[in-house]
Amino acid sequence: MNTIVCVKQVPDPEIPPAKFKIDPETKKVIPPAGVPPVISVYDERAVEAACRLKDKHKGKITVISMGSGKASDVIKHTISMGADEGFLLEDQAFENLDSFGTAYVLAKAIQKIGGYDLVLCGRQAADWGAGQVGSILAEILGIPVVTLACDIQAADKKFRVKRTVKDGFEVLEAPMPSLVTVSSEIGLPRLPGGVGLMLARKKQIPVWKAQDIGAEASQLDKANAHTEITGLSVPTRKTECEMVTGGTPGEAGVNLAEKISKLI
Ligand SMILES: Cc1cc2nc3c(=O)[nH]c(=O)nc-3n(C[C@H](O)[C@H](O)[C@H](O)COP(=O)(O)OP(=O)(O)OC[C@H]3O[C@@H](n4cnc5c(N)ncnc54)[C@H](O)[C@@H]3O)c2cc1C
Repeated sequence: MNTIVCVKQVPDPEIPPAKFKIDPETKKVIPPAGVPPVISVYDERAVEAACRLKDKHKGKITVISMGSGKASDVIKHTISMGADEGFLLEDQAFENLDSFGTAYVLAKAIQKIGGYDLVLCGRQAADWGAGQVGSILAEILGIPVVTLACDIQAADKKFRVKRTVKDGFEVLEAPMPSLVTVSSEIGLPRLPGGVGLMLARKKQIPVWKAQDIGAEASQLDKANAHTEITGLSVPTRKTECEMVTGGTPGEAGVNLAEKISKLI
């Protein structure tokens, strides 16, 4: 079973809200100083799903990430979990791509790697959360996609995917190769062991640029982007507190009920 997992580096969700800053002019998130990015939570679950399939069926796990040099640490984290190799897709031309551009770059890298039975993505990235890349990627690769997986089994050249839906779950069959996006219901990711950590530390992560994967300049041209960010702001939350009192506890209760009934 050869699996390719797409993982994204995202700002650490543990950053205190006061340190989360954006630049409204350039419409960009300002990375907080001294806090390294981490693997997107759903992508770590996708790596876990790949490791479970490898535990059962052997094979190879290849991880790809499009991002800055810091994404190497994210790839190394997946190697410490059980992935075999990883490639960093880093090029100035890859910066500020929308979901379509991101999927195009990932597709070119996947086509270069080749020989895969399964491509895994997270259900959505933990930062921008568009949840689009997986489906667009499958379309470009020309393979079926199953979203929101909470269990993936493989047998007889087919996948049996349990996916979460509003009122429970459904089970779908998909041929090999397919793309599956993984939801957190798949369960907790494994902790890296000592051997895994040592392997990851020694591993060199090759960097692929646009020309290495044969990405066409016209596809990376921001003028051809499908989406445009028209504004970016941190939502403001206003909370007000009013003490409702009364001569007795009973009176305070009546006053409170009157206040609430006026709000409904
Ligand atoms: C005009 C424009 C400018 C933007 N500029 C920036 C910017 O400067 N900085 C910035 O961080 N974002 C920027 N974005 C957002 C960026 O385009 C999104 O991160 C990207 O489109 C992917 O969408 P998403 O993160 O919501 O991924 P989703 O569609 O939610 O991701 C689903 C899954 O796809 C895979 N995936 C997604 N991205 C990657 C990746 N890079 N590498 C490997 N796998 C991946 C993962 O498996 C992930 O779980 C910009 C968007 C637009 C439209």
